[in-house]
This record gives sequence, C-alpha cells and structure tokens, in this order.
Amino acid sequence: MSLSPIDEMMMRHALTLAERGLGHTWPNPSVGAVIWQMRGDQPVIVGRGYTQKGGRPHAETEALRMAGDAARGASMAVTLEPCAHHGKTPPCAEAIVKAGIARVVSALEDPDPRVSGEGYRILRDAGISVTTDVLKTDAELVNRGFLLRVREKRPFITLKLAQTADGFAGADGKPLMISCALSKQRVHLARASHDAIMVGVGTVIADDPDLTCRLSGMMHLSPLRLIVDTHLDTSPTARVIETASKVPTWIITADDASVEREAALMKEGVHVIRVNKDVQGHVDVKVAMAALAELGLTRIFTEGGPTLAEALVSHHLVDCIEIITSPDALGRAGTVALRPALKSALADPTLFKASSPRVVGRDHVQHFEKVR
Ligand SMILES: [Zn+2]
Repeated sequence: MSLSPIDEMMMRHALTLAERGLGHTWPNPSVGAVIWQMRGDQPVIVGRGYTQKGGRPHAETEALRMAGDAARGASMAVTLEPCAHHGKTPPCAEAIVKAGIARVVSALEDPDPRVSGEGYRILRDAGISVTTDVLKTDAELVNRGFLLRVREKRPFITLKLAQTADGFAGADGKPLMISCALSKQRVHLARASHDAIMVGVGTVIADDPDLTCRLSGMMHLSPLRLIVDTHLDTSPTARVIETASKVPTWIITADDASVEREAALMKEGVHVIRVNKDVQGHVDVKVAMAALAELGLTRIFTEGGPTLAEALVSHHLVDCIEIITSPDALGRAGTVALRPALKSALADPTLFKASSPRVVGRDHVQHFEKVR
C-alpha cells in the first residue's frame, strides 16, 4: 500500500513531538500524537501532544485534550501503538474510541509481548480505520532506547569522547579542557535528551564534574547521574554526591565493595547498585547495563573516561559514538583518548558506520553508528 502524503507529513510531525520527550519519560517510551481534520483537501491540525515528564499523561491524552470536540471524526497519527492496559487512567485506545476519532495512523506496534496488537484490536473493534507501520524505520530510530530495553534488556548508549589533534584526552592525571564553547553546548543539549549521564569513577576523582545540563533555560532537564565505581572510591564530598539530593545520583559498584563506604554515600542520598565483577576484577558492564534497563533506563549518555569507554565498546554495548577533535595539539605524551580496542572497533566497518566529520565551532565532530 502506498503512503498518503498527508499521513506521512502528520507522522513526521508526530515524530518530532516524540523527540521532545526523549530523556524525560523513562521507563516509558516518548510518544508523539497529532490529530487533524480535513477541510476540503487541506488538513487542519486540531490537537497535538507528546509524553509528559515522568511518562504521564500520554501523548494521545494530551492531543485529545487539546482537540476537544474537534476530535470527533478526525484522524490521529501516533508514533507507537496506543496503550491498552488499565493503570491509574483508562488506556489511550479506549480514550481514542470515546473521543470519536475515525482514523488512526500508527508507526510501530508496541513491542511489549503482553500488549502488542491489543491497542489496535480495541480501535478496530470500535470501527476505527487503523493503518500501521507508517514511517516505521524512522519511529524505530526515535524509540531506539525503549525498543532496546524491551527487546535486548539493555539501554541505548551514546558515547562521547573528546581528544586533542594528536589524540590525547588528558595529561598529568587530569582531563584536558579540549572542546570549544559550541561543542560543549552541543554536549549539554545531548545530556538533556538522555535518561542518564554516565562516567567512570576516574573522571569523578580527576575532574570533580557536576554532570548536569547547564544550558540556560534547560537546567531543570538535567538527567540522572551514574558513576561506575568498582571499589566505591567516590568521595562523599565530590560534587555529584553533595548535590545528590537535587539531581539523583546512582553508583554502580561490585558486589563485594565496602559496606561502610556504601553507607556514607547512601547518607548523601545516593542509590547504590551492586553487580558481579568481570574477569579483570571490574564491575561487569554487561550485567550493569542489564540492571539499569531493569530499573527502567532507556538512554544513557557516556562521557568517560577511556577505561569505561573501552569496556562498553568491547562488550558491544555502544550504539552511537561522537568524537570531538580539537585543532590544538597537546604536543607531549598524555592519556590516550582512544584505547586500542576502541580504535580498532571504530575502524571495523562491520561494527561501526562512520559519517564524514562535521565542523562545530573550532572542532571537528565525527559520528559513528553501530551496524545492526
Ligand atoms: Zn497511552
């Protein structure tokens, strides 16, 4: 069946709405919905919405609320199959029926096997015309985190690395301040569209970062902070710990880490997650990511350091990599940004697809996508 240009346009609009919620709806997916009426051969949008902070209200509810009576006889484009289960509020599929929507255009079936297809069944049983799989590939990209969490029991992971022109990330045990102002702003924007920012304990000790989104007007969109810390070496006076009551902070540690240190960190409001160690004696990142998915996380932004980056890439857990390269060279020996395992993975076209570098301010940014 060929795709109607109006359905496609409305679905594209719904997908951009869904993107707005990314990072703020976990463990729920971020969904977008658009309702329109035809006036002659012209579509007129009467309602639109996306999943609100914390996962509720749902996109369909938001769009129906805006449309009011104009929903009767209208069409709706929605980026994921409307929900069918009864929770605190009635399911969206029933709300759509009740509002008198005549046609539903959907991008993706809900991958959760308990509900998959049930939302469509409710709509069709009520006589609503349902068109499925509209811009499915695009919707899968937007929903990558949610889909990976359901299908592979792990979150979607973006890895950001910055290096000097000669390939160093740090010197004398300290990270280098490498990226230009514009690159830094892009990083803060990316932080806000993920459920969590993750670093290794080495970065916390060397840099004492805040790990928040500091873009003006977006500070309230700072995600959860995650520290991978095998021996609980994070100091209770580190900035991420001192501010844990304002911005949630979780530490992933080994099952045999000190109980006293755990107690000191928990006193500051930190949530500690214990997982097995791998053969090298570090937190097993594969087990750790499964635990985070179990806790509801769908999208994680990783910012260092080289040890954590290498461990994640070696276990095929990284979906997207951004490498920021400054035009300035360190000019002496330092901490290598791309460890050998990471470098060879990036050079392997069966593992990652590289885009051509883009200029961002003074820097070059290169993007790599995991090959599926
Ligand atoms: Zn719903």
